[in-house]
Amino acid sequence: MLGDGNKEIIVLDTSAFIAGFEPLSIKNLQYSVPAVRNELIPNTLPRIRFEAAVDEGKLRIKTPTEEIIRKIRIYSKKSGDLRFLSEADEQVLALALELRNQGHRPRIITDDYSIQNVANQIKIKFASLTTFGIRYRFHWMLYCPACHYKYPADHRAKRCRICETELKRKPIRKKSV
Ligand SMILES: [Zn+2]
Repeated sequence: MLGDGNKEIIVLDTSAFIAGFEPLSIKNLQYSVPAVRNELIPNTLPRIRFEAAVDEGKLRIKTPTEEIIRKIRIYSKKSGDLRFLSEADEQVLALALELRNQGHRPRIITDDYSIQNVANQIKIKFASLTTFGIRYRFHWMLYCPACHYKYPADHRAKRCRICETELKRKPIRKKSV
């Protein structure tokens, strides 16, 4: 299923869990980041799968260093993806880069186009969820955590136009395709 078999380290983003990726189903060592956990809503199936994989020791949670996150921001600014990346996306990319700098072979599992684009720039491998036979699609809802105003998913600004609070996003599982 994956090119290098068990030797690649899998890095999972939010879209992987929303789409129904099951960490217990593959043998590779798997990592995710704290901000992905925060994006998964408690008591939903994606969050339950996430926590179960952590409890089973199949999924490790690691915070990448600030220095590497800064590097990711520089790369993604160049490629024009920075404004589309959430904190979770930045952490996922930074963790993959950190693992590679340590001599590992990371592969990000994501359906997020901006993550794929930045991964391409820095030559980090990725695979989309269809690789795993997962055909669910989802979209993001952008909202203001302070005044609860909602924005379309393709909204460009990072702050609420009403109260200036930094916008958050929430995944909404859409349909199978
Ligand atoms: Zn607001």
